[in-house]
Amino acid sequence: MTKKRLSIPKSMEKRAFQQAGSRCSFCDEAEVAALQVHHIDGDPANNVLDNLLVACASCHAKVTWGIISETDVRARKRDLATACRNHNQANPAPAVQVTITDSRFRGDIAQNITKIIARGSPRVVHPPGSLGADLRKKGYVDYLISQYFRFKKAEASYGVRRPFNHAEIHQTIQREFGHKTFFMPAEFFDRLVEFLYHRLDQTVLGRNNRSRGVANYHTFEEHIAK
Ligand SMILES: [Zn+2]
Repeated sequence: MTKKRLSIPKSMEKRAFQQAGSRCSFCDEAEVAALQVHHIDGDPANNVLDNLLVACASCHAKVTWGIISETDVRARKRDLATACRNHNQANPAPAVQVTITDSRFRGDIAQNITKIIARGSPRVVHPPGSLGADLRKKGYVDYLISQYFRFKKAEASYGVRRPFNHAEIHQTIQREFGHKTFFMPAEFFDRLVEFLYHRLDQTVLGRNNRSRGVANYHTFEEHIAK
């Protein structure tokens, strides 16, 4: 926050967006309003193309909070740069390896390093037994968190002017649960869902909805039926 942030030259920002196909480099989000430019080396003044990666606010928070590892970020950047150089040929981006930052699971997953194939596939390898390894549960938690981001954004239109920090929810989860969001044991799922329901219900929009009998989220059962 206190670091001096030079604004990214428009021409460079445009090149970063072109390289990423104007999508989040991790999840494919294409809504321009959701997209941000991440400084890979953490230096907001280093605005060379090699240091810039387009990410949606949600994935950007995961990067900031180490849920997407720096190794993964750099690998993704290499993919995009290569794919961009070869963009006239229909070359798929090369598979890359991803390492896990959470040392707690290092032993378990050492033999389990997985190849990342294409954009849109899961970018981070989650250890067996973790919440992130259960794709249906992970998908539902992802949904609740993005719902929370939408509600927080909507608060601006209710006159709440406190700056909104996308990493905050992940920080709070780690503090409450003792694990990073998708690295916690899958058994924590129900508790985490309850926690996120509560957070959603406590937003300004969430309280408004409830007073009008409008649901703030669909259930896990409804989610997997989609
Ligand atoms: Zn994203």
